[in-house]
Amino acid sequence: KVVSVTGASGFIASWLVKLLLQRRYTVKATVRDPNDPKKTQHLLSLDGAQERLHLFKADLLEEGSFDSVVDGCDGVFHTASPVALDAINPQAELIDPALKGTINVLRSCSKVPSVKRVVVTSSLASVLLTGKPLTPEVLIDESWFSDPALCKESKQWYVLSKTLAEEAAWNFSKENGIDMVTINPGWVIGPLLQPTLNLSAEQVLNLINGAQTFPNISSWWVDVRDVANAHIQAYEIPEASGRYCLVERDLHNSEILKILRKLYPGLPLPEK
Ligand code: NDP
Repeated sequence: KVVSVTGASGFIASWLVKLLLQRRYTVKATVRDPNDPKKTQHLLSLDGAQERLHLFKADLLEEGSFDSVVDGCDGVFHTASPVALDAINPQAELIDPALKGTINVLRSCSKVPSVKRVVVTSSLASVLLTGKPLTPEVLIDESWFSDPALCKESKQWYVLSKTLAEEAAWNFSKENGIDMVTINPGWVIGPLLQPTLNLSAEQVLNLINGAQTFPNISSWWVDVRDVANAHIQAYEIPEASGRYCLVERDLHNSEILKILRKLYPGLPLPEK
């Protein structure tokens, strides 16, 4: 079968492409710059890439950019979205590409009869910011939806971009009869296939490089290979529907440092 993956050069998407090729799919993969070897070389050297990987140039902000990509595909994985916590112009850098980009991709899917299911990479960011307390006795589930007003109030622009994009995706897919499933992972970690550092892997590097103190916080983490695999299951299993939150472990920064100390005893890591 033929499937497409948007933002294929990214951290999660690279693993998704690798696992899809392993499962013998033909993959139409989009990148913004197919001539940049930093974005494509690791994909082109994957097992099966020569025979079954096809690269396309596409940009989230260009209307119709994904038309020829999704045409002929049975499944579409929309992972592309900017990931940044330091945007200077959040509307242009985060919200427009996330929101308009998602609708662009879904609109392309709605034009072709071949697409049977779309899997959208959303985030736990679109789930958590509800104003409800996040204490240990509270059970967070897929019925939670972050509140855009709270995102704006707290200037959490990445969270806002993912929340608006997912909300718009559900509205568009319902109005246009698209079978859509979302994957909502916490912070994603694991081996990098791409040569550049993405934001969630950078969080761990910041801990390693950090001063002698580190932020007194816990986060929800999940392995990138599980996230990629969840995307494939969300596409392959007919009964899959709605949203799937993915978290493997809640870890305090001090626990992450403990793990790193065990794995790399020579590293000069912060103590407190
Ligand atoms: P990366 O930064 O590694 O990948 C992001 C991808 O989005 C890149 O391929 C990038 O393309 C593409 N992209 C960004 N802007 C545009 C644009 N205007 N047009 C086309 N493509 C664009 O991030 P991750 O792999 O970490 O994230 C992938 C997805 O997973 C995102 O949707 C993110 O929100 C979500 N997610 C990530 C989590 C994490 O902890 N990493 C947690 C939860 C959700 P290019 O290479 O050309 O820049």
